[in-house]
Amino acid sequence: MIRGHFIGGDEVPAASGATFDSLDPTSGEAVATLALGDAQDVDRAVAAARAALPGWRAVDPYERGRILQRLADLLEANADELAALESRDAGKPFGDAVREVERAVRTWSYYAGWPTKITGTTNPADPGVFSYTLREPVGVVGAITPWNFPLIIASWKLAPALACGNTVVHKPAEEAPLSAFRLAELALEAGVPAGALNVVSGEAEAGAALAGHDDVDKVSFTGSTDVGREIQKAAAGNLKRLTLELGGKSANVVLDDADVEAAVEGAMRATFRNQGQVCTAAARLVAHESLADELSERVADRVRALEPGPLISERQRAHVLDLYRSAVAEGARALAGGGGVDGPGFYVEPTVFVDTTNDMRINREEIFGPAVAVIRVADEDEAVRVANDTRFGLAAAVWTRDASRAHRVARALNAGTVWINNYGGLDVYAAYGGRGLSGYGYEQGPQTIEEYTTLKTVRQTL
Ligand code: NAD
Repeated sequence: MIRGHFIGGDEVPAASGATFDSLDPTSGEAVATLALGDAQDVDRAVAAARAALPGWRAVDPYERGRILQRLADLLEANADELAALESRDAGKPFGDAVREVERAVRTWSYYAGWPTKITGTTNPADPGVFSYTLREPVGVVGAITPWNFPLIIASWKLAPALACGNTVVHKPAEEAPLSAFRLAELALEAGVPAGALNVVSGEAEAGAALAGHDDVDKVSFTGSTDVGREIQKAAAGNLKRLTLELGGKSANVVLDDADVEAAVEGAMRATFRNQGQVCTAAARLVAHESLADELSERVADRVRALEPGPLISERQRAHVLDLYRSAVAEGARALAGGGGVDGPGFYVEPTVFVDTTNDMRINREEIFGPAVAVIRVADEDEAVRVANDTRFGLAAAVWTRDASRAHRVARALNAGTVWINNYGGLDVYAAYGGRGLSGYGYEQGPQTIEEYTTLKTVRQTL
């Protein structure tokens, strides 16, 4: 498969003629060859988005909503094809990819309802003055996305951006870019005008060009904290607005009165889904000392029985193995796994570390792989203190049979999302965002409308 950029409704090669391959993570072989974008390609795409902006923002909100709902319907009608593409490109089981397409359909459907509900206010004013506020699109939006859930994360950005009347340039991750192109084609088919949604494929250079572009009004980025910092610096030139959804180091807190059976299930979901390549993955299992051994043993039994899945790339594999080695060097013990799996493909062993403390590298740095480190605590206060002792603030969970305690701990945990007696699961209807090194701004829920609009106050003397 050969893919150009998608600019102004047309597929075009890179201005430089350069290409790169997207690899199948299970084999390391090329799935597709794509245009390798640079600043010239980003310029063209931004110009197309700017040209499409007056037309798209002027579309009757009712019609804009219908177009987005048509896109949701088209995604649903093409779910098998999209899931097969995503499964191959991102190296995930077909069933997982099908569920991700379903989530993307819900996302587009939710935002299809918004254009007719974006309102301003009438304001108190001096006597003899009529003051009201208009909520307007911010303009041209750059969306930069990662490879772990390519279609869903793109949808969290593109759907609200378009619903609010913005136009978009999307730079998908180089490791799994294919679904972004299919999404843009289906958007065109649904009636999103040519130029309102453009896709430039490429690596850091293309992302940096978008983040630093003077004619881009906002960037919404999901990815690593290091790149988030670069984007914040690049955005300073024209003071563009940002949403940053970054890494995490989330804690899964199991208190002494927890249902251990359920907590074992939860720990498996929390850490090993998608090979741990989940921003909200709980890499720290903060367990009360009365049940820490039982919990660790039972999780380790389950982990030994897991079929290892591939990580996204050799780079990611090397990063995970480096952290595994650091854990052992600092005194942790691997109760299950702990090593790599010989190639082909980018495999590591799913791993449970015990005898860990919160100051070890394995508990400070994001792993983004199938590994959990158990940290023993003596009581609820220590559990909260350890869970919050991180510079990240994306997600957390607490397991307890006491409802008051559950809500008390949920309030005390410093994270954008907290689960009680569960781990994972987000609804498109509620805000999702991070704190600290996990970033700022929101995706999903009504707050996104504020992220993709700007206010204008109009005053008329009567
Ligand atoms: P990454 O930061 O390496 O890359 C993300 C995107 O940024 C890619 O499209 C990449 O090409 C682009 N990029 C790279 N350098 C850039 C630069 N200098 N300027 C602009 N763009 C640049 O992240 P990744 O490895 O693709 O994804 C994994 C990371 O994403 C993890 O840290 C994970 O926690 C995070 N993540 C966060 C969330 C969330 O919602 N908070 C969700 C998923 C993933």
